[in-house]
Formats: sequence, structure tokens, C-alpha cells
Amino acid sequence: MPDNLKSELPPFFTFSQSSLQDYFDCPRRFQLRYIEHLAWPAVETEPVLENERRQQEGQLFHRMVQQHLVGLPVEKLTRLANALDLSRWWKNYLGYKFELDDCSKYTELTLSAPAGSHRLLAKYDLVAMLPGRKAIIFDWKTYHKRPKDEWMAARMQTRVYRALLVQAGAYLNGGAPIQPGQVEMVYWYADFPSEPARFPYNAAHFKRDWDALTSLINEIGNHRNFPLTEDDKKCAYCPYRSFCDRGGKAGALDGSDAEIETAAAEINLNFEQIAEIEF
Ligand code: SF4
Repeated sequence: MPDNLKSELPPFFTFSQSSLQDYFDCPRRFQLRYIEHLAWPAVETEPVLENERRQQEGQLFHRMVQQHLVGLPVEKLTRLANALDLSRWWKNYLGYKFELDDCSKYTELTLSAPAGSHRLLAKYDLVAMLPGRKAIIFDWKTYHKRPKDEWMAARMQTRVYRALLVQAGAYLNGGAPIQPGQVEMVYWYADFPSEPARFPYNAAHFKRDWDALTSLINEIGNHRNFPLTEDDKKCAYCPYRSFCDRGGKAGALDGSDAEIETAAAEINLNFEQIAEIEF
């Protein structure tokens, strides 16, 4: 493995939940992806075509929900739900009572704020606001197994999204700061519509998260050494396996572990990859 990798973060690097999760899972993956920008052609999971199809349908589902929330007619969108998983997710979505009628809805919302030595940015599927009362973050998940709530609670996404909404969301709240106790994060699972995971928030959690996030960002900004993870289970679905001599064969999603599958699905899926729907 080459040992002449760059180790300095660009000065204007903006952190996201994905890059922080990558660092948390494996500092070397963070280095290869965000400092070296190394595109490495390894298959992430087996079977390849099946997983590609699932990813594409998941991306289309996100876009359909967004279009529905901004007012496109259901009939027009339903015509797009012509694949097996997608039509089931869409039916589940339309059948679920989200009770958002009184809320202001912000779809595909981007928030960012200074955090330590850099900026932190998050892109939300939906933030539903009842100004002065509630700020509910929704995130749509198309996993085919439902991860445990404790595992989702510890994900960077859960920590970043809630903290950043408090830190940077005042303009959604008529200019008044959003209080941590007003915030809730909901993961709505398209294949488990009646089992959303709900994570309320409070001032102590916010302080804990914001302090931890800023010190992690400062730590990464000062780091010059990005070691390989010692947990080689993290390598099974990582695109850099052959680069790191951690095996050439992709891990198989055999349905045995919901959390491993979830992590695998997220390694290579990010919001920016969700393509526009053409009508
Ligand atoms: S293959 Fe393993 S050690 Fe290498 S970047 Fe990926 S997770 Fe890290």
C-alpha cells in the first residue's frame, strides 16, 4: 500500500454527517475519500446488480416524496412507482398519517454553521416546523431490515442533524433560536411504516453533541495520521478494500445483521447522489 498519502485537510473543508461517520468508522477511509479524493473501483456489496437496483429505487423514492411534499399530484407521481420495492414504499408512504397539515414543511433543506475549526453542513429530507412549538426532522430510510433504535441513536446523522438544527435553524422559527426540547428526529422506514424511530432532544443532549462534534472536527483538522480501522468487519463493504489489503471480495448482504447492512448501504449513498426526476 502506498505510504505517500496526503494528510492535510483543505482549509475550507466542510464536514457532514457522512464524513464524520467515515472518520468514526475508519480514519483511513476518511483520508482516502476526503483528502485524497481517491475513487477506487471496488464492489461494495454482493450481489452487485441487486444492490444497485435497490439504491436507485431508494433515490427515486426520496425524490418522489420530496415532490409530493411540495405539491405535485399523487397520480402523476404514482406513475413512477413501477418497480416492486418502490411501489410498496410509495404505497406505505401514502398510507401513513404523518400529521403535518399544520406544519411549515422544508424539504431538502440545507443548514450549515461554523463548528470548531471548520463548518458543519447537513441536508435534511424534511424539517416540519410549528414555530415556537415543534421542529421535527424526518429522514426516509429504505433499508430492508430495521436497525435497532440504540444503534440509530449513536449514528452521526442523529447527532449532527438535531444539533445543527438547534445551532442554525432560527430562521425557520421566526428568527428565535430553536430550543433543544422542541426538536425531534424521526427515521421513517419505508418497509416498516408503523415502526418509525423517534429521537427527542433536550438541552443536555445538545450540549453533549455540540461539544463532541466541535472537538471531533478540531481533532480531525489537526490530524496528520489516519490509521486503518482495527475492526476489519468495517472493511467488508468498503470500496477501498483492495487498496488497503483488506480483501478483494465484497461482503454479501445475507440478511443476517440489520446494523451491518445499514452501515453498508450508507457507505456509498449520500444525498448529493439523488438525481432529479424528469417529468
Ligand atoms: S478497507 Fe478497511 S481499513 Fe481500508 S479504508 Fe476501508 S474500512 Fe478503512
